[in-house]
Amino acid sequence: MNCQQNNLNPIKEPQLHAKCPAMLRIEVRMNLAKVIKKFNKDQYNLKELHQLLGKSEKNKAISKGNVKMPGRHFSSSAYFCQTGSILMKKKDTPCSKCYATRGNYATGNNIKGNSMNSLAIEYYQNVVQSFDLWTFALIKLIEYHAGKTEYIKDAKGNIIGIVDPLFFRFHDAGDVQSLQHLEAINNIAVALPHVNFWLPTRELTYVKEFFDKHGLFASNLVVRQSQHKNGKKPFEFSKYPQLLTSTVSWDEGSHNCPALTQYVEKWVKKKGELKLIKQFGVCEGIGLNGKHNSCRNCWDSKITNINYTLH
Ligand code: SF4
Repeated sequence: MNCQQNNLNPIKEPQLHAKCPAMLRIEVRMNLAKVIKKFNKDQYNLKELHQLLGKSEKNKAISKGNVKMPGRHFSSSAYFCQTGSILMKKKDTPCSKCYATRGNYATGNNIKGNSMNSLAIEYYQNVVQSFDLWTFALIKLIEYHAGKTEYIKDAKGNIIGIVDPLFFRFHDAGDVQSLQHLEAINNIAVALPHVNFWLPTRELTYVKEFFDKHGLFASNLVVRQSQHKNGKKPFEFSKYPQLLTSTVSWDEGSHNCPALTQYVEKWVKKKGELKLIKQFGVCEGIGLNGKHNSCRNCWDSKITNINYTLH
C-alpha cells in the first residue's frame, strides 16, 4: 500500500532511515488516520492523547525520563534531524558523537518509540497540514502531569529523583522539522504559561524564520541555538539579538553546565543481578554527596549562552 493513496495533496516524502522501516510509517499513519477521525476535543481519554502523538495503545508519547533531566520531556528520532544528520558525519561536531544514537537510545524499542513520534510529526506536517491536534494532545498531557508529583526510582524501588513537572524539555532526542512545527511548540508554551519550556535546536533556518514572522518566542519558552562545532563561540547575528545559544567545550563560556560532575548512586539490574552504580551526567535529582541540584539554567532566558562539556 502506498502511504499517499488517501491523500490528494502531493507529499514531500522525507527519506526514511533504515532504522525506521517503511512498514512503521504505514502503521503510524493508519493509526493516526483512525484516531483523528473519531477524536472529540470535548470527550477523550489519556490513551487517545498519546495516540494522537503517533503512539499505539500501549506506548506513551512523553516521558518522565530519568535523573538526567529535572522534568518530563518529549523525544523524537535523532535519525530525522535535518542539520544533525549532516553533522553526524562531520568531525569535531557534537552530533558526530550523538548520545541519542547510542547506548539505551539504540535499542529496538527506543528507536521504534522515537521514530513513531517523528513519523507523527511528519504526518501532521505533510498529510494533515496542520499541527492543531498534535498541539492539543501535548498541551493536555503536559497539563495533566503538571498537577502531579512523580518520582524516579531505581531497580530496588529507592527514590533517586523527583520529577519537576513545571520544567519541560523539547527534545531529549531529535529536533524541529519545520517552521510550522516550531510554531506549534510555541503555541504549547503560550497555552501553558505556568510551565517552563526549553528547546535546544540546530535548525537555525527555522529559528530565523520564526523571528522574522513573530519577533519573539513565548516568554516561557527558551529556544537555544546550538553551536555546530566543538570549541567554537556561540552563533551571533546583529539582526537577531534575541537569539539564545549553547556551545560545547568552549573555553570562554561563563555559564558551564555542572551535570557531568554530578552523579546519583542507584541500583540497576544487570544480567539478572542487582548492582549499585554511580550514574554521572545528572542534571537534577539527588546530586553529588546527596546534595540536591537546583540548576535550571537551560530554561533561564536571562542566560544568553550555556556551555556544555563534550561527553
Ligand atoms: S545547565 Fe543546569 S539545567 Fe542545564 S543541563 Fe546543566 S545542570 Fe541541567
